[in-house]
Amino acid sequence: MKMQLAEIAHAIGAINDYDQWADVNVTSVAFDSRHLQPGGLFIPLTGEQDGHQFVQSAIDHGAVATLWAQDLAQAPADFPVLQVENSLIALQTLAQYYLTKINPRVVAVTGSNGKTTTKDMIAAILSTQFNVTKTHANFNNEIGVPMTVLSMEPNTEMLVVEMGMDRPGQLDFLSKLVMPDVTVVTMIGEAHIEFFGTRDKIADAKFEITHGLSDDGLFVYDGDEPLLRERVTDLPQQQVTFGRHDDDDYYATDVTSAATSTSFTTNKWPDVTFTLPMIGEYNVKNALAALAVGTIYRIQPENAQRALKTVSLTENRAEWMSGKQGERILSDVYNSNPTAVRQVLHAFAQTPLKPNGRRLVVLGDMLELGDQAPALHAGLADALATGQFAQVYLVGPQMQALQKALATQAPDLPVTHFASDDLAGVTAALQTTLTANDQILLKASHGIHLENVLAKLLPSQ
Ligand code: ATP
Ligand code: MG
Repeated sequence: MKMQLAEIAHAIGAINDYDQWADVNVTSVAFDSRHLQPGGLFIPLTGEQDGHQFVQSAIDHGAVATLWAQDLAQAPADFPVLQVENSLIALQTLAQYYLTKINPRVVAVTGSNGKTTTKDMIAAILSTQFNVTKTHANFNNEIGVPMTVLSMEPNTEMLVVEMGMDRPGQLDFLSKLVMPDVTVVTMIGEAHIEFFGTRDKIADAKFEITHGLSDDGLFVYDGDEPLLRERVTDLPQQQVTFGRHDDDDYYATDVTSAATSTSFTTNKWPDVTFTLPMIGEYNVKNALAALAVGTIYRIQPENAQRALKTVSLTENRAEWMSGKQGERILSDVYNSNPTAVRQVLHAFAQTPLKPNGRRLVVLGDMLELGDQAPALHAGLADALATGQFAQVYLVGPQMQALQKALATQAPDLPVTHFASDDLAGVTAALQTTLTANDQILLKASHGIHLENVLAKLLPSQ
């Protein structure tokens, strides 16, 4: 970005005297002084720590100005300081101002799973014909969304923002902050059900993403989700669905899974085969959502095809790796919830085995599921009782419910349970049985730290 200090002060209603610095050029913003680029405006936010104590560090990194939400007498002398009441609100206000100034088309993406993936696919497709800015990594909250807005180059034509949600009201706020032209809901799962109680309430909270949707905007959503279908009946804006059925606007007509890629055709362009450089049929749905957005902006299918073929994901969490003995490991250790486990088990089971190879599954607790945790863990039994898995290792107290369910639903499936502080036991059990022809899936919430098991299986650097 490029703004002069006077313009920024005016936009956020800074109340002190900055006249002598009015024409200082600001080229970026940062709330972490270590990431501040020379020419940056420092935003001292108050979280676990008070950002004001890092103002000096920001200046050392090349800050040309700072916001200040404390007693002015404590502010650095002879340095451009913009006093505000609340730095977070000032950041959000500045983002709103900058958005109006640059005025791109805005696409906002939410959903229980698949936000980052879909955001990256949409940005890749739109980038074939437009200048696009997208959410960096997973910056999807009240801080990340304004930071994304402020990261736009002045020539940005399209902004693709990921929006996360862990409580009611959050998407209402974020949606009204950026006033999207297109909003996308990838799917409704069980993530954060501990706080919401029911999937119905999660759907309400996700639907808030439509609150800022422009009147002539478009709502793109998962047509397989009845909770969304029932909510759109009162939505005045136009709607487009993607899903598994032929009453969806976008559906896949043929899906082929290979070892590291997935190909599909769609009802829209029967002659075009799209290939994704990643596994997981769920990614076909993410891609359909992205194609729906691309079509709105008249992206040619050949361009979308090219973009999807090489799309690189910010955080491709389900990642194939090679273990010490040459065994293939599908690592997905950074988050987990029931829908994601089902999806990844399905993808894992589709990947062809080497001769005499086996599929070994390591699943750790899915956290933050509240009262429903035992039932949701036990409910995964049918996904494991398919005859495709040779051995299952379960980790963490919640997984005892699944162990019990498997004892009745799949009595022949070998299942071993480990306490969450016994990752060494998991590693040892894997190491004694593994052969080079096996495949291993590792999936758990990050709190279980299966990455420590993974590290032991990978060749040492
Ligand atoms: P976060 O809430 O952590 O930001 P996210 O919504 O951005 O997550 P991604 O990072 O795109 O989601 O994907 C995370 C994982 O969710 C994937 O590795 C996969 O296991 C699962 N997943 C992705 N897309 C879908 C989908 N459409 N349906 C179900 N599961 C999905
Ligand atoms: Mg994400």
